[in-house]
Amino acid sequence: MNKINPALIGFDIDGVVADTGGAFIRIAGEEYGINSITLDDITSFEVIDCLDVDQGIIEAIFTRLLDDPLTAGLQPMEDAISVLHRFADEAPLTFVTARPHKKPIARWLKNFLQPATFEKIRLVAMGVHDNKTSYIKDLGLKYFVDDRLQTCRMLANEGITPLVYNQPWNKNGHDLPTVNDWQAIRNLCFD
Ligand SMILES: [Mg+2]
Repeated sequence: MNKINPALIGFDIDGVVADTGGAFIRIAGEEYGINSITLDDITSFEVIDCLDVDQGIIEAIFTRLLDDPLTAGLQPMEDAISVLHRFADEAPLTFVTARPHKKPIARWLKNFLQPATFEKIRLVAMGVHDNKTSYIKDLGLKYFVDDRLQTCRMLANEGITPLVYNQPWNKNGHDLPTVNDWQAIRNLCFD
């Protein structure tokens, strides 16, 4: 396969750049004493459908992660930041997230990215899940890394190549291209 031009690939944030699943489990344990969950238990993107945890607690944890990901201790996925900087050597980074507010996640990215890299990013916070495709097309991207299967299917239908970032909640029922980690993403674009 030819290497992907780094200018043509974009990234989802939660579950791809950010270890949102890991943060959810940590907060559930530390703040709610729920220590029985592992990442593999999160078999649905809709967490409420797969965990036996009170809906109010689930919502409270996600609200924290959305409103103030830095203070909530959201961490980047392993190797994400170093690989993103490698991409940024070639082209500005593009992120498209369904998060409702741009500022908190911009602050989070700013905390982890080098200032010169952060200044050049393109960041879209859409607020909804289901119209990513039009944003991604308008941004001129041809490839997009996302962990939500439904989004990846929509992208594929519209001629964008999705790369499903493997997570326990997206493993079944598709034959789309996948990536296991950030080294795999790197290898798609660089020798
Ligand atoms: Mg995501």
